Amino acid sequence: MHQSSFAVLSLLLLAPSLITAAPHDTSYTSSPHARHHEPSANVRGRVDNFDTPRPWRRLSDAIIGRIWGLAGKQKSLDTTNRANTNTHTIEEQPEPKLLAQYGDDVVLRFNISTTDEASALAEAADILFLDVWEFNEDWVDIRIAKDVVPSLLGLLPPTLEKSHVALMQDLDLAQAILNSYPSPSATQLHDQDRSYSPTLKPSTPSVKGHPFFQDYQPLSVIDPWMKLMASMFTTHVRKINVGISYEGRDIPALRVGVHATNSNQPSRRQTVLVTGGSHAREWISTTTVNYVAWSLINSYGKVHTITKLLENYDFVFVPTLNPDGYVYSWETDRLWRKNRQPTSLRFCHGIDLDRSYPYKWEGESTRSNPCSESYSGDTPFDGVEAQRFAEWAKNETDNNNVDFVGFLDLHSYSQQILYPYSYSCYDEPPTIEDLEELALGLAKAIRISRKGRPYKVTSACEGNVAMSKDSKDKKERLVLPRIESSGGSALDWFYHELRVKYAFQIKLRDTGSYGFLLPRENIIPTGEELLDAILYLGRFMLGEVGFAADKHTTKTEPPLKEAVEHNEDTEVWERDRDQDQSQFELRRRR
Ligand SMILES: [Zn+2]
Repeated sequence: MHQSSFAVLSLLLLAPSLITAAPHDTSYTSSPHARHHEPSANVRGRVDNFDTPRPWRRLSDAIIGRIWGLAGKQKSLDTTNRANTNTHTIEEQPEPKLLAQYGDDVVLRFNISTTDEASALAEAADILFLDVWEFNEDWVDIRIAKDVVPSLLGLLPPTLEKSHVALMQDLDLAQAILNSYPSPSATQLHDQDRSYSPTLKPSTPSVKGHPFFQDYQPLSVIDPWMKLMASMFTTHVRKINVGISYEGRDIPALRVGVHATNSNQPSRRQTVLVTGGSHAREWISTTTVNYVAWSLINSYGKVHTITKLLENYDFVFVPTLNPDGYVYSWETDRLWRKNRQPTSLRFCHGIDLDRSYPYKWEGESTRSNPCSESYSGDTPFDGVEAQRFAEWAKNETDNNNVDFVGFLDLHSYSQQILYPYSYSCYDEPPTIEDLEELALGLAKAIRISRKGRPYKVTSACEGNVAMSKDSKDKKERLVLPRIESSGGSALDWFYHELRVKYAFQIKLRDTGSYGFLLPRENIIPTGEELLDAILYLGRFMLGEVGFAADKHTTKTEPPLKEAVEHNEDTEVWERDRDQDQSQFELRRRR
């Protein structure tokens, strides 16, 4: 694709939406259901009063105001990717709204070592409606209002009173939330009255990658970006919908692959599904789906490994499985997790889409509690987006000659590669050997190819419950009481119902320093980690690596990172990217 045509297409396709990069879109359409639920303040604002800035708009305006005042003091974020830190170093105070919403909250990590501790914490989480952020065999992270901490500690055994620490390092929650929104330069376009200042342009030459991945992006930018990909790369990309959300939004996806054209009777098209954003606040899962999509799309025809992969397999990338929740996490509550449909309790919205699938649905236990963050709905498939996505997938296999061979469901956080089952630690999946072998290979590919983070490999159940550490022998270890139910997951449904051979849930960065509020400097490195994993998955499926391959061949392929990094077009691409960057900035200012 020529630079000039890229620019023209970009202007045509991106300009109108980039002007509204902060969710100011008009794409919202009311579903028939939507009439029956109480409209949020945002929706009312959108319908009734276009002059009233919505929360996100006010937030971005506030950032811009302060940046242009240059009153902010410089403070470097303590990220693990300091080399990549660009301009996101201007520390601003969160505005009153954010402080009011989150200023009194903290995230505490409790280190668990006994059954009593785990049961007590599970019970307390239920009683106090706590927001459990993440948990595994070693710890449980809980968001809690500071003034509720004494009540919580009162419900816990004395041993736990001392074995907890506050997360978020030296940031408070409101500040970390503010930092997770796009950088001031990305919101310059909102300031119509000011002229462009090159000094505020991100100093990106050292930052590898497309400008799209310098920041988390709202749905109103992601959707036209996907259209742009489909328009630019017509030979191997199509934009599709995999369902409609409760509030009537499309669930967009990119189908990437090259079909054989010479066969009269094409065999079933083997397809890998890569999904993100089923939990709204896990923004890194959305950017990672897009990053991997972009990398495969852009490398087709340039990198042999990837060309071969796309000739043999289709990939379907779904970055926002829960678009209503995602938009809500941008506009109203950064820490929103579930979808946005109403429940039997008027003041508690949302169903946990990853507890909503019918296979081993455990809703009986959460039915009474629609306010729970892991509320499974009243019946299996109550979660609208889960049901529609599953219907789409089933239709693909039943009627469209598709054979889903891989399912990677991306979440955050805790750096784990989890294989089925999620619902039980006692039932083993029939293909456990393959799953474990491949999961270990994915983790190794991540760690070695470009020195990524260590990812732990375990079953989804074990990744999701506390296990006693008393015995070294796995079989003798006791499963401690669950912090949350883990039946009804997408992972188990796709593995069991759709017979997807290689099904994994991958929890991305980090391990709790920032949790869901992962600084944007991690977007590209996390994307690269998953790209390395997917390239490994491809080679595994093609029989080039793994136990089966070892038996038949001694020939070794060059390491994956070389395949990607020695791309002869890389330099050209980097140069183009810098040009793209300046055009991107210009477009944003229109
Ligand atoms: Zn999740």
